[in-house]
Amino acid sequence: MKNSKITNTLTFDCETGNYHTFCPISCVAWLYQKIEDSFFLVIGTKTCGYFLQNALGVMIFAEPRYAMAELEEPDISAQLNDYKELKRLCLQIKHDRNPSVIVWIGTCTTEIIKMDLEGMAPKLEAEIQTPIVVARANGLDYAFTQGEDTVLSAMVQRCPTSSINEKQEQKSSLVLFGSLPTNVATQLNLELERCGIQVSGWLPSQRYVDLPVLNETVYVCGVNPFLSRTATTLMRRRKCKLISAPFPIGPDGTRAWLEKICDVFGVKPIGLVERENQIWESLQDYIALVRGKSVFFMGDNLLEISLARFLVRCGMIVYEIGIPYLDKRFQAAELDFLEKTCHQLNVSMPRIVEKPDNYNQVQRIRELQPDLAITGMAHANPLEARGINTKWSVEFTFAQIHGFTNARDILELVTRPLRRNQALQNLGWNQLVKS
Ligand code: SF4
Repeated sequence: MKNSKITNTLTFDCETGNYHTFCPISCVAWLYQKIEDSFFLVIGTKTCGYFLQNALGVMIFAEPRYAMAELEEPDISAQLNDYKELKRLCLQIKHDRNPSVIVWIGTCTTEIIKMDLEGMAPKLEAEIQTPIVVARANGLDYAFTQGEDTVLSAMVQRCPTSSINEKQEQKSSLVLFGSLPTNVATQLNLELERCGIQVSGWLPSQRYVDLPVLNETVYVCGVNPFLSRTATTLMRRRKCKLISAPFPIGPDGTRAWLEKICDVFGVKPIGLVERENQIWESLQDYIALVRGKSVFFMGDNLLEISLARFLVRCGMIVYEIGIPYLDKRFQAAELDFLEKTCHQLNVSMPRIVEKPDNYNQVQRIRELQPDLAITGMAHANPLEARGINTKWSVEFTFAQIHGFTNARDILELVTRPLRRNQALQNLGWNQLVKS
């Protein structure tokens, strides 16, 4: 098969976009938990409801702060007044939960019937006196984690422009963007503090009412590779200065991320190299398991390039990095880092496939027989039955993978199928389907 050659430079390909991923409306699952005073209203059909209900598992029993506004036939054929319906629902939400913000999530259906959410929101907001943020996190335009990107870029507009003492200070400050569990965000704050840099705020903040100040004196830096729209909005709308760095995933990424920020602020970091080495040392037991093994990313959450770079550093061979969407500008530092890492370790460069075609990928997996395929649930069991070890990719989105201390969690996930299958291999039934 001609497509599966391994090359010496990073190669970029684009396929049909016929691949499995979560719908971006799934971002409500982690965003409602992160922004404690928010309420998410997904305006869509039963299809969206079924997806959320199934994908978010047991969370639905915990009275989450999200709900579906389910469009019915009369809504779609414009027999009902959308504005009145939404007002009724939002008043009910306000009455029951009293959130500081209601986020409307637009879906495929609201796109297709051209429901004017952006037009209705300001009017309704004035009427009910609760901020309404509109994000079009639909499956027509975006994949999985990009849902967060649409919400955050909509929230940029709601951040205050200047603090009271901003005039006197005029000092440049640092705002980090990307939703991370609070303890992970604190860890990154502390790492920067150790370097002598104070983080002045996060987008999103833990509470909507605490959104960070954004203006031309603010430097912004992303913690996740899927936030390219947010980065663009921060630069274009709020004139913030973007720090382009690799992402703080893996000890190598975390150090590069910290160094880049220090560099911009003119600070010389002390002890980062030792700290990185110390973490690598603590990972040796896991690295021994993955060294020399090959991995294939089918691609569905946009974390793939950073994870692949980390795994190359761990001694793995990456055959292919599938990715739903690649913003080469936003990921420039990460791509560069990946290339350098491959050069340093003298391993062949992975092939990067944007908008992959799962069918073609399965053919390539059959041919290459990687030691591990990182893939969605749709392909995991069928591949396992054919003797290919798999890791479910969605876990990387929900696990804590940022910063120095969480590197172990990434390897814990990556090695789990290898450890399990090693334990079972003597049973002699690892190939269950006739090929
Ligand atoms: S892809 Fe579209 S229709 Fe399907 S769940 Fe997502 S928003 Fe709803």
